[in-house]
Amino acid sequence: MPQALSQRYTGGHLVKDHQLIKEDLWVKDGKIVSPQSRVDQTIAMDGKIIAPGYIDLQINGAFGVDFATQWDNLEKIASGLRRQGVLNFLPTLISSPLDHYKQWRAHYSHHPAILGVHLEGPFINREKAGAHSRKMIQSISSEAVLEALEGGKLVTLAPEMPNAIALIRQLSAKGIVVAAGHSLATVEESKLAFEAGLKMVTHLFNAMTPIHHRQPGLAVAALTNPSIYYSIIADGIHLHPEMVKLAWQTKPDKLILVTDAMAAMGLGDGLYRLGEQVIEVKEGHAYVAGTKRLAGSALQMDQAVRNLYAITGCSIPQAIEAATLRPAELLGIAGRKGTLVVGADADLIFLDHDLNVQGWSCTTEE
Ligand code: ZN
Repeated sequence: MPQALSQRYTGGHLVKDHQLIKEDLWVKDGKIVSPQSRVDQTIAMDGKIIAPGYIDLQINGAFGVDFATQWDNLEKIASGLRRQGVLNFLPTLISSPLDHYKQWRAHYSHHPAILGVHLEGPFINREKAGAHSRKMIQSISSEAVLEALEGGKLVTLAPEMPNAIALIRQLSAKGIVVAAGHSLATVEESKLAFEAGLKMVTHLFNAMTPIHHRQPGLAVAALTNPSIYYSIIADGIHLHPEMVKLAWQTKPDKLILVTDAMAAMGLGDGLYRLGEQVIEVKEGHAYVAGTKRLAGSALQMDQAVRNLYAITGCSIPQAIEAATLRPAELLGIAGRKGTLVVGADADLIFLDHDLNVQGWSCTTEE
């Protein structure tokens, strides 16, 4: 619903300070404010949970649209995502022809729900390409490629590739958040990347060295470093639930839920685009057509939050924070997004106590 001038939400439970707190919430001109003596509108929440809107750092498309190849219908996607509780997102663009990058930057800077783009690739390891077209994967040398990445808010690369460490430093200095993924990095290579400013590991356990007791790789390095965030695709397909539990029990306060959703999300089985690839979705599983390689998901963020809650036995606020506060912290915007503190944007979602989305009120509608 569009926001009137000022509101008081009463009788709800706020997600605040890692707890559910029975407290009223005041909003004025699209911001959360301290208690006001007069408001234009009082809204009864009838015991519902009031949470910050979910933030999806990795979404390749939805509702039949692939962000990398179909650059229209942004509001159609944003409005569909709102129904799932996602009020902000980073369109995620997999390794693609170089001339796309500049155009993406211009195109995806306009919608208020978009916090920037996530460039996944093109500097990834060919051996862990997953659904990325190998033809599009680049080495870190060309100036044109470096220029392309400057349009990203978040960049996923493979830190073991030649020149990657210098690139991590360069991008971090420009305020671009760098993550590792589609990688065969060893623990030692991972540590060098962390020291250079790398902040996250993208879809932990997927498209990287599996846990091995004598040759631990990026996933283990991420879990044993207290300051590195990691994203998880909690759809029950990309990861066995015990792996989600392992990550959660090792380091709960750095877990970020992402959907990695592609065009099929919100629709059904069939053939879809993902960048340069054709993807076949069968019974909700997305594969590069004709292979058994996983290619994004059909996962919705509200379901990911419910899955994390069910798998780990965490609290309701902890499950919600994995899709709100954590991604905002990673992007360095936690005072403005992903939180209900005074001064933050009033991007609110309303949930029942089974974590189903019942409604929203936000500043990010076009
Ligand atoms: Zn990926």
